[in-house]
Amino acid sequence: MQTHKILFVASEAHPLMKTGGLGDVAGSLPVALKSLRQDVRLIIPAYRDVLARAGKLTLVNPALAGFSEPVRILEGKLPGSTLKVWLVDAPAWFDRPGNPYLGPDGKDWPDNAQRFALFANAVAAVARNQAGLDWQPDVVHCNDWQCGLIPALLAQDATRPATVFTIHNLAYQGLFPVSAFTDLNLPPALWSPEGLEFYGGLSFIKGGLVYADMLSTVSPNYAREILTPEYGCGLEGLLSHRAGRLMGILNGVDYHEWDPQRDALIAQPYSARDLSGKAANKAALQARVGLPVAPEIPVIGLIGRLVEQKGVDLLLASLPEVLQQPVQVVMLGSGEKRFEAAFTDLMAHHPQQLAVQIGFDEELAHLIESGADMFVMPSRFEPCGLNQIYSLRYGTVPIVRRTGGLSDTVVDATPDNLASGSATGVVFDEASAPALLAAFQRALVLYWQPLVWQQIIRASMRQDFSWRRSAKHYLELYEQAIAFRLSA
Ligand code: ADP
Repeated sequence: MQTHKILFVASEAHPLMKTGGLGDVAGSLPVALKSLRQDVRLIIPAYRDVLARAGKLTLVNPALAGFSEPVRILEGKLPGSTLKVWLVDAPAWFDRPGNPYLGPDGKDWPDNAQRFALFANAVAAVARNQAGLDWQPDVVHCNDWQCGLIPALLAQDATRPATVFTIHNLAYQGLFPVSAFTDLNLPPALWSPEGLEFYGGLSFIKGGLVYADMLSTVSPNYAREILTPEYGCGLEGLLSHRAGRLMGILNGVDYHEWDPQRDALIAQPYSARDLSGKAANKAALQARVGLPVAPEIPVIGLIGRLVEQKGVDLLLASLPEVLQQPVQVVMLGSGEKRFEAAFTDLMAHHPQQLAVQIGFDEELAHLIESGADMFVMPSRFEPCGLNQIYSLRYGTVPIVRRTGGLSDTVVDATPDNLASGSATGVVFDEASAPALLAAFQRALVLYWQPLVWQQIIRASMRQDFSWRRSAKHYLELYEQAIAFRLSA
């Protein structure tokens, strides 16, 4: 395998910063690429929490040239690995607490366009080896709208490296008013309907979709879906035009972090061979969230952003009926205030059955994965989804909608699939509360048949979605990008 120099760029990377699946991917894919003997560097913004978590840092560039304000580059290691990390330290833009995209009021930071344009300009300098780091990447791998301007800026440059852009969620596009384009001093050549313009405004994500040598998204099914008006978010035309450059590569998961046999954050380890520890985790979960410790009652878990994409409105509509039965539901998430309030209110009516924790809590997330019997993801769309993959490994049977990566990873418990032993979960089609309710009923019927349930659990725990295979697909993607770059 040839060694490439890969600059991996993201706006978050676990364990330095994580708000969702992008953070998981950016914290594990570069490490997997490194273990395939690639020369990989990760670059992210130096948010306040990142600086606090990063450990030892070295100043490698005290003042990046060409910026009107101080922009420094710090170098360290991604905690828990030997991966080299560069942090773009621009205090005026990134030295802020909490969520990297939202202010304390839960709204986007008003200067997000300036923040991620500055990040893009800094990364472009590193990608051109103009940051004094003595390292010239062959490929720059950009992720989501926060990195969208990078391929566009580099496209202007005759000696640039190849660029790859990965869509983790097409619904988040980085759209700003036209005035932002002039404020940001972007090259005028980028302003056209074939460039960064989108319905009269500035679209960051188009910078990636239009200008990157190769595109990818995080599951094969979502790669097909985004070519249609239903899932394309207005970009299906552009994506169809570039479909020959688009690959769907399923996310892997980091089984060092997410495996019940060695998970340090759960009450007791367990494996497919010996499931006894799962019962201990269930009891620990019930106790932790204040529900009755009842081994026989099925526990349904949910972790995630409380937004319409995740189908939480469907859950809200079906929960009152689900809670008529002997079940417990444990939810962890944050998001739209109306959903947070509605679930908290429902909890007050069902304190013995429903536990809702609003916020972000890595430790509780692991306990839910290990202690719940089922895990629900009724998403309207789901580019890949990670929690259903974690659930499979924890023997926590996923109940998912047939969309995006959910349908690439979960095998429905149809009579045929049960007979062949391939069933790993319950999959439903329609994005409606009755369809979700029917899926819950189907899962509960299976739960009350212990032998069948055990078979599903064992089949799900055998699934392997480790990064190694996906990382090899990314190497193919990089090689194609390099080939297109050279032939251009
Ligand atoms: P998305 O990226 O759309 O939010 P994914 O399923 O791809 O959804 O990834 C979500 C990741 O973020 C998972 O690792 C999940 O466990 C984690 N996560 C989401 N919300 C929370 C939360 N409130 N507390 C802890 N972890 C969370």
